[in-house]
Amino acid sequence: MLTYEEALARVLGALPPALSEKVSVADAAGRCLLETVTSPLDLPPFDNSAMDGYAVRAADVAKASAEHPIFLRILGQIGAGEVFQGHVGVQTCVRLFTGTPLPTGADAVVMQEDTRTNAARPEQVQILDAVRPWENVRLRGEDVKAGTLLLPAGTRLGAGHLNLLAAVGLKNLPVARRPQVGVVSTGSELRLAGKPLAPGQIYESNRPMLSALLADCGTKVQSYPLVPDSLTRTRTALQRAFAECDAVITTGGASVGQLDFVKMAFAELGGSQEFWQVAIKPGKPFVFGTLAGKFLFGLPGNPVSAFVTFLLLVRPALLRWQGVQDVALPSHPGTLVEALVNRGDRRHFVRVRVDVEGRVHSAGTQASHMLHSLAAANALVEVPPESTLPAGSPVRVLRWSGT
Ligand code: AMP
Ligand code: MG
Repeated sequence: MLTYEEALARVLGALPPALSEKVSVADAAGRCLLETVTSPLDLPPFDNSAMDGYAVRAADVAKASAEHPIFLRILGQIGAGEVFQGHVGVQTCVRLFTGTPLPTGADAVVMQEDTRTNAARPEQVQILDAVRPWENVRLRGEDVKAGTLLLPAGTRLGAGHLNLLAAVGLKNLPVARRPQVGVVSTGSELRLAGKPLAPGQIYESNRPMLSALLADCGTKVQSYPLVPDSLTRTRTALQRAFAECDAVITTGGASVGQLDFVKMAFAELGGSQEFWQVAIKPGKPFVFGTLAGKFLFGLPGNPVSAFVTFLLLVRPALLRWQGVQDVALPSHPGTLVEALVNRGDRRHFVRVRVDVEGRVHSAGTQASHMLHSLAAANALVEVPPESTLPAGSPVRVLRWSGT
């Protein structure tokens, strides 16, 4: 049986390089940038005002105060998107607004709140406070210099990245193509909501959960009809899913039971099983395989096991396949407020609830069929085999987005 690190290394090692496509900046949220981007422009692109007020020569108003205002002649006004066609000379100024270009000759802006006007003398303004040279001026290039690195390849684009890329005028970006991922749930006991349960049946709950987890990984998701425990039906379902998708996630049917057909059906289709079973709890019967450049992630059927193996093994794979460099789950330190016990011989990824102060509680009963503790959890904590982490222990909590 592989350790978690061995399993993850095998999965990541099997992935081909990401395929590139161009998308507009507007459509690039959540996508992974495949090439380093340098800025074609300075930001700000020109010296401009940080305030609504008056562009002045700082030297002219060095002695200004509320008691002894300095009078300046107003040469004109610059609106947004306009450039002043003139020069700010001695004892003159130009009215401007936040973001408007600083006119030539001026080297500072006095904010409107530090000025007074008189309706009888509209051509002049009283300056009530001094400014230092370049005060209230945003200098060209002080944010970004043309030709410098904006974002490295491998960045997964979020809202702030998109603003920066749009601000320098980029139109299209080379990003990774989004893999199409099929989700196939197996199990003769599974029923769809809306139909009454016959004795022995349960409602299928893995596909909605996996669709939500996949949406956070930037992939496209195709959910397939439920598959009963039959070798032929499993093979037919896998064949269709592999024809239509770049990777297929199955749930159930990957254990040691007689009715566990996923591995067998996959082999009959020509798939190569890279490994089966990982020394983690929950999630031991995880299977990984390759088929003509596509991937099988066979998750255990227990929803909790499917959830944990998805986060630990599938999520990093799907992100890395799209070129994302940092594929580890987001994590941060926390402190246990109650002991976590692992009596088993596999590393246990325990469902916990962590609060804003970093205090970590168990999310409830940990058996892999217990769904309320899955819903209550917002993090996982790893507890080593045959060990107890006492209350007060510092731990690293593993997070996922959406909670
Ligand atoms: P299996 O891995 O197929 O042996 O399933 C393990 C457990 O998970 C059994 O109790 C199944 O009934 C349950 N299970 C399997 N697939 C699902 C599913 N899609 N939704 C809810 N429970 C499931
Ligand atoms: Mg089953």
